[in-house]
Amino acid sequence: MPELGKKHECPNCGVKFYDLGKPEPICPRCGVNATDTEEEVEAFRAKVEAAAAEDADEVPEDEELPAAAAAVDAEADAEAEIEDLDDDDEEEEEDEEEDED
Ligand SMILES: [Zn+2]
Repeated sequence: MPELGKKHECPNCGVKFYDLGKPEPICPRCGVNATDTEEEVEAFRAKVEAAAAEDADEVPEDEELPAAAAAVDAEADAEAEIEDLDDDDEEEEEDEEEDED
């Protein structure tokens, strides 16, 4: 079983992910550092939005929303697969019960 590292929840987009043992838990979806403070996340978000606005200044903001929603759905599926790998915790609890006997 590969080393998944610590589990994090992205403070920006909310996706759950493992840091894979890396010193900085970078969200695989939006690229924010999950250990950033709220202010740093705000700054990151503002920077991404500014870059996106520059990138596609012809596209009105609301036209981008459906695409963003679709991306969230795709990520939810990937997340479910990651969650399955977390079963280890339950097995450890069972071991403890046996020790009591
Ligand atoms: Zn994120």
